[in-house]
Amino acid sequence: MDGAYPLADLAIPDPPLSDDDSDTFNNERELWQMLVNGTVAQVQGQQVVEFDGDLMLTVLNSISGRVSAVDITVENVELKVIEDDGSSCPKNRQCKKRVLCLQPVFIRDDNGMNASGSSFAVFQAAANDVWARCCVEFEWQAPVFVDSTAFQIIENMDQESGLAELAMLGDEVDQDGDNDCIEIFFVEQMNKANGDAHASGDGICRSGGAKHSKVWVSDAAIDDCDPDASRVCAHEIGHVMGLKHESGCVMTPGGNPPNCPTNNPDMVSLEQCKALRNPLLKEKDPVEDCCKTPNCESGGS
Ligand SMILES: [Zn+2]
Repeated sequence: MDGAYPLADLAIPDPPLSDDDSDTFNNERELWQMLVNGTVAQVQGQQVVEFDGDLMLTVLNSISGRVSAVDITVENVELKVIEDDGSSCPKNRQCKKRVLCLQPVFIRDDNGMNASGSSFAVFQAAANDVWARCCVEFEWQAPVFVDSTAFQIIENMDQESGLAELAMLGDEVDQDGDNDCIEIFFVEQMNKANGDAHASGDGICRSGGAKHSKVWVSDAAIDDCDPDASRVCAHEIGHVMGLKHESGCVMTPGGNPPNCPTNNPDMVSLEQCKALRNPLLKEKDPVEDCCKTPNCESGGS
């Protein structure tokens, strides 16, 4: 019956309750009875409910004992439907949307053919979904290319020579780390010295939390393991934004070569959302309000 009073006000703003209103003492009891039909409609882009029917108001004056009644016909009365405008967002989740520029780098052979990046679309979609929960939006740039057959497959990832090779590949784009974008290098495969694939859980991040942070991921994660590995890149981007490993959420660690990487849960915690940091993580311009929607409790380490 919440609608009764505004409805009556709209139908008949000042109903004649009594012919003897000589005081302002509230000594009347009201009984509302309504028989109305509501129809939901769109009026000028605004959702409204149109009511038609009858309202009966009966008033008992407890001093005089007089009973007054008024019958109100409701015709085409519109009540606007108030839509959720986001103000239901709990205070500790309200924030301004932030953006981070990401630069995909694909590796081609020495002749500029056979580009890597078969995992790109899957990794990209998963990363967008996960970090939108923390109100982070990625500005994915058009891919750039490194033409070097040697970098297509990284060997010896569990040895210094493999990591040195990764670093050399990293230096192929924005060596000084000042292009205000985080590079994500897509290699075809990352192997251990014994030939096992899926080294480092098919993803690795350097200098997490820093402006010059870089990420390397392996197409093999998706080519061999999809969809279990779809969040490897989202996990590495979590490191880029300064997060450490944490079991239970997307920052669950690793994988064990030659097995496919851990299927990182599609989840982030409020604590993780609040902890994100990187000098390149900037407030969106123009400013956009956002409600964080974390779906994970912070767990162990
Ligand atoms: Zn990790």
